[in-house]
Amino acid sequence: MVDGEPGVTRDRNYAPADWSGKLFYLVDTGGFVPASKNGIEKMVKVQVEIAISEADVILFLVDNKVGAQEIDLEIAKKLKKIEKKVILVANKADNEKEEIDVHLLNRLGLGTPVPVSSATGRNVGDLLDKITEALPEITEEEAEEESIKVAVIGRPNVGKSSFVNALLGQDKLIVAEAPGTTRDAIDTKFKLNDLNFTLIDTAGLRKKSKVKNDLEYYTSLRTLRSIQRCDVALILIEAPQGLLNQDMKIFQEVEELWKGMVVGINKWDLVEKDSKTLDHYTRRMKKTAPYLDYLPFVFVSAKTKQRIANAMDLVVKVYSERKKRVETSKLNDILRKEIDRKPPAAAMGKYIKIYYCTQTDIEPPTFVFFCNYPKLLQKTYLRYLENKIREHFGFIGVPLRIKVRKRE
Ligand code: GDP
Repeated sequence: MVDGEPGVTRDRNYAPADWSGKLFYLVDTGGFVPASKNGIEKMVKVQVEIAISEADVILFLVDNKVGAQEIDLEIAKKLKKIEKKVILVANKADNEKEEIDVHLLNRLGLGTPVPVSSATGRNVGDLLDKITEALPEITEEEAEEESIKVAVIGRPNVGKSSFVNALLGQDKLIVAEAPGTTRDAIDTKFKLNDLNFTLIDTAGLRKKSKVKNDLEYYTSLRTLRSIQRCDVALILIEAPQGLLNQDMKIFQEVEELWKGMVVGINKWDLVEKDSKTLDHYTRRMKKTAPYLDYLPFVFVSAKTKQRIANAMDLVVKVYSERKKRVETSKLNDILRKEIDRKPPAAAMGKYIKIYYCTQTDIEPPTFVFFCNYPKLLQKTYLRYLENKIREHFGFIGVPLRIKVRKRE
């Protein structure tokens, strides 16, 4: 697992992984409790089928201590019918002696079982080798003219489809479809004010008669893949509902992948307004999610097309902010003063000193602070530094990567 902040993987069923240079997502279907026959069938249908439809490789995990049960046979039968690579994993093979039993799983008809012990990590490396061997080669995104990659995302029903169609339906817009890099994704390319844009994975959004609750289409993994490929995520929320937990989770996902963000508050036409509404609304949002203070908001209506152009202007702004580089001398001049004004608190009897700072990268903008005791520097202080960078240098809508390195 890569880069997991504690807490953020809670109720998450997928994780980015990296094994010998191959990147992939690990998806956990949650497992099912064999209750009634109906219960089993329902779970197999919904949970497993979504996961299978999205997967490139399927790991079928069986408990080696109890052997193949009826439900395992039932699942194996389903797995044999699909045309995807299945790896049969015999879990709880904790030692050599227990490994001897794995051949009993041959009767599942899914090839040679791979014995592992999740508890001790035994053989997990071998399993990962098998997974990476089975993964398809990824076609590289072609080098092409610069294009701003935008993912329009949000909860079901917030108006993603309406927004994309309102945007693409504008006069004089030349629109072309191109295959995306991931399986069955279609991107839409267009030019606006002389800038090239690529809307990521629009196939499902542009469909005229969209099938609602199309689970297979709108899974979180699909959204995640779109986020991963974009420069800027345009996250839609619904004005009448305000910020919901589900929306915040999406913000967090984009932030974790260090992509730019613009928040479109859609269906603004449904809100009864007076001269103060906009102000009130903004204040309430910031109160609900104070840590998202750096995100630009725009009040839009996909229905009336109000401020769709402004939303795209913000996307362009955030895109360029994400490419911005601050000179080291300028950065240090300013941050030196801020650090002197409020130095880091001493910890474990040590004075903590920050010597200097430099921006080492763009997309995402990455800042490295050199410090005598990096491990003792508190998270709250890093947030202080981040806020100061934003205060002086902007970076609206852009998550900043802040690192601390040791220097004597
Ligand atoms: P998606 O699931 O996020 O793609 O959402 P849709 O684009 O399918 O929209 C869901 C519902 O909200 C549909 O009935 C739309 O007509 C409606 N809708 C979308 N945008 C707006 C808007 O700006 N104003 C109003 N009043 N309704 C909207």
